[in-house]
Amino acid sequence: MNQKSKKKVIVIGGGIAGLSAGIYALLSGFEVDIYEKNAIPGGECIGWNRKGYHIDNCIHWLTGTKKGTELYDVWETVGALSDDTEYAKLDAFYTSTHAGQSATLWNDLQRTQKELIEIAPEDEAEIRKFITYVEYSKQCLFPAKKPMETWGMKDYIEMGKNMMDFPKVMKEFGKISLEEYGKRFHSPLLQKLMCDYLPKEYCAYSFLVSYATMADGNGNIPMGASLQMSLRMEKRFKELGGKIFYNSSIERIILEKKRCKGVELSDGTIAEADYVIPTVDVHLLFNKFLPKEYMPKEFREAYAAPKKYPATSGFQVAFAVSMDYAKGETVFIDMDPIKVGNRTFDRMYVKAYGYDPIFIKDGKQVIQTCISQTDEDYAYWKSLSKEEYKALKETLVKQVEQRIVKAFPELADDMEFLDAWTPLTYERYCNAYHGSYMSFVTTPAGKQIKMKGKLKGIDNLYVAGQWTNSPGGLPVAVASGKFAVQRILKSQKRSMDI
Ligand SMILES: Cc1cc2nc3c(=O)[nH]c(=O)nc-3n(C[C@H](O)[C@H](O)[C@H](O)COP(=O)(O)OP(=O)(O)OC[C@H]3O[C@@H](n4cnc5c(N)ncnc54)[C@H](O)[C@@H]3O)c2cc1C
Repeated sequence: MNQKSKKKVIVIGGGIAGLSAGIYALLSGFEVDIYEKNAIPGGECIGWNRKGYHIDNCIHWLTGTKKGTELYDVWETVGALSDDTEYAKLDAFYTSTHAGQSATLWNDLQRTQKELIEIAPEDEAEIRKFITYVEYSKQCLFPAKKPMETWGMKDYIEMGKNMMDFPKVMKEFGKISLEEYGKRFHSPLLQKLMCDYLPKEYCAYSFLVSYATMADGNGNIPMGASLQMSLRMEKRFKELGGKIFYNSSIERIILEKKRCKGVELSDGTIAEADYVIPTVDVHLLFNKFLPKEYMPKEFREAYAAPKKYPATSGFQVAFAVSMDYAKGETVFIDMDPIKVGNRTFDRMYVKAYGYDPIFIKDGKQVIQTCISQTDEDYAYWKSLSKEEYKALKETLVKQVEQRIVKAFPELADDMEFLDAWTPLTYERYCNAYHGSYMSFVTTPAGKQIKMKGKLKGIDNLYVAGQWTNSPGGLPVAVASGKFAVQRILKSQKRSMDI
């Protein structure tokens, strides 16, 4: 295809979904411009520097690091992973502590089973069942070859063959929340262990799949941090000839009858295109970029029922501490209650980043903490004045520091504050709905949202981004970019093999 006859694709957003869409569109012979409101790529998959330390915002685990999986191929195509990628040498998912005891979910499932039975012999049967079902959950691999609405019988048969045992997991854990699941254990420590990592409203199977992904070596952390992975994708995009415009906020999508003509930037500039792929948060898409009536019914229902469809964020604090403190460990601790608005919190995690030199400076490493937040916490932060917001952050930082020192007395006099951020930070930076990290939490009462990317009444717009498939996350984001381009190819009656 010569330059003149190339069709133009505009991608809105330079996060993981936007970069992926851009790369796959270039590989399919399109001319591509990405518009990103921030000064750097990556969206939520970034990091930043404070006092010379690097703070990581994203990758606790990256699904698709195992070669041979469909998702690995996608990560490789977009330049995020390669044969040369090194991964953090971590041997556990996380540790939960409670009342002086601790329990760890090791990547080695047999070790976990043995240790958990030693800790809580009264729960032996439930522990064995847990490990068996985590083993089954290893079969649950993210299908990243092509969008599911284009699957034929052969694709379903293939998936069925590869996931023979997974229906058992869905039957047993598909309709109960983590909170309910935790109650099957007698040991208070194991109850905490099951509910610490994901919001307790999540369907229990999500947690089993997450742990299985780690245990299977398919959820590693690439060395070099989250921002660097986004920068590798940006490099690939540019090398293929794509253009990315930073500090370029889109104001609206221009519709003309059943087509979208292009986009209008906040400075009034108009950019025209043959196809538009928005990858921004869909709340913004349907409340600002497009008239509200284009919002699919399932999203309308979800926004109206936040208990069934919660969004999750966090209050996070980063410190620099000595290297003696455990490297790479993520430990959940009991703490004296901390109040944010109307809710109190008595658990948080402390993660030590010394596993990667990028988080080490002058013999000190970064540690980060997180107190999980949801819609009502966001509403509270949002209700504060500028001064109240600042004051609350300062108070919480002091309280978090005290709680850490109580749990790890060796850190007394060794903690240097680096930064603190809230759900509003994600809203400001990425226009993220309620500061959400991912898409809606999959709860037993809610339905999983799977959006086909096309909107009724608009011919040449293909939605991508983590909100197209709850609960979102990096795998959904990267695959959604590819799927949007495949949907365009299908509309042109071209091969979808990219
Ligand atoms: C603290 C944290 C930890 C996480 N940990 C993990 C993890 O361990 N594993 C995992 O799989 N996922 C994790 N995630 C989720 C993951 O980061 C997201 O799922 C993913 O990055 C979403 O990518 P996206 O491209 O769909 O959306 P985004 O990253 O939100 O990208 C959308 C882009 O659009 C831009 N934009 C918004 N408005 C406009 C506008 N008006 N004009 C132009 N551009 C605009 C934004 O700036 C942004 O760059 C984590 C997220 C957070 C916040």
